[in-house]
Amino acid sequence: MNRPFNFSAGPAMLPDEVLKTAQEELISWQGKGVSVMEVSHRSEAFMTLVQQTEQDLRALLNIPEHYKVFFMAGGGSGQFAAVPLNLLGVKKQADYLITGTWSEKARKQAELYCTPNIVAHAEDTQFKAVPPVATWKLNRNAAYFHFTPNETIHGLEYHELPVTVETPIVADMTSNLLSRPLEVSHYGEIYAGVQKNMGPAGLAVVIVREDLVNNPLPITPFILNYGLQAKEHSLLNTPPTFILYMVALVLKWVIGQGGVSAMALRTRRKSEKLYQAIDLSPFYRNSVEPAYRSWTNIPFTLVNPKLETLFLNEAEAEGLFGLKGHRLVGGIRASLYNAMPESGVDALIHFMREFERKRG
Ligand SMILES: *Cc1c(COP(=O)(O)O)cnc(C)c1O
Repeated sequence: MNRPFNFSAGPAMLPDEVLKTAQEELISWQGKGVSVMEVSHRSEAFMTLVQQTEQDLRALLNIPEHYKVFFMAGGGSGQFAAVPLNLLGVKKQADYLITGTWSEKARKQAELYCTPNIVAHAEDTQFKAVPPVATWKLNRNAAYFHFTPNETIHGLEYHELPVTVETPIVADMTSNLLSRPLEVSHYGEIYAGVQKNMGPAGLAVVIVREDLVNNPLPITPFILNYGLQAKEHSLLNTPPTFILYMVALVLKWVIGQGGVSAMALRTRRKSEKLYQAIDLSPFYRNSVEPAYRSWTNIPFTLVNPKLETLFLNEAEAEGLFGLKGHRLVGGIRASLYNAMPESGVDALIHFMREFERKRG
């Protein structure tokens, strides 16, 4: 297979091995003569797949027993409503740390159900840094504290855990889950749309402390009810079965690669190389403060923005795909999820140097 290196932010590249397995099994899954898309989600084979997927994720992230793990349709954004619906309980307020587009979208959705309090806003730093903890306005009456550790669009990552927070911490890890080990017990809930680092689009994974799932607001649609989802192990209704199957393959692949600590070493190395190439050149620029730079999403601009289209076109012709920045911020963005091999980053850096040599 001669495929380009795919730097898309999401839906993002999948490992070649995973795609090949899916291709081989497409017509006939487990020798059944039918595909995984064509079997009942209540069949023993499929239920085993879901169980195994949950177990694999538990093993990869060392998830404690008292956390529920399940998959829900609706992607990352579905959780923007599911979180307040399930976690508010009798409280009427929640804390939101705003560090970019996704945390703001989550806050906006929460307005339907409560009064979200803005703890701090990274607009104050032009999205170059997370505002210092000393400036945060935490609310004692908040039901939870929501933040987005990795802002996929701005390339802003909060590498620390907000330990000063007393309310349960809820983290949208759509673009950085599985990029490194983490201590799940520090969180009330972690959720992630799977299309960045775990599979194709359409599903979210939810990891939530068991004491937080039993008090949904009465208006909660049953399909967004964490308690029911947990009880039914992701099979409350017909889930996107093919997506679940793909996630299952990706998790096996991550395990085969050495798990999340191996992923962390690689992700860190890949991103450091690229940041260094950007920083050492007067031709490219990333303005996020080094301490807050994302390991997985690296936006950058050309000092001469007129060259951007040419850069993107020539990059694509060289087998470097999906580098266009998000429409809200423009520029270039390289996403370095687990499936991106180090050779892809080397190829990108080589291209950047050549482009600068020719047009700089
Ligand atoms: C992509 C993304 C989302 C949105 O995911 P959808 O599945 O499209 O709803 C939410 N949060 C973060 C951090 C993201 O990167």
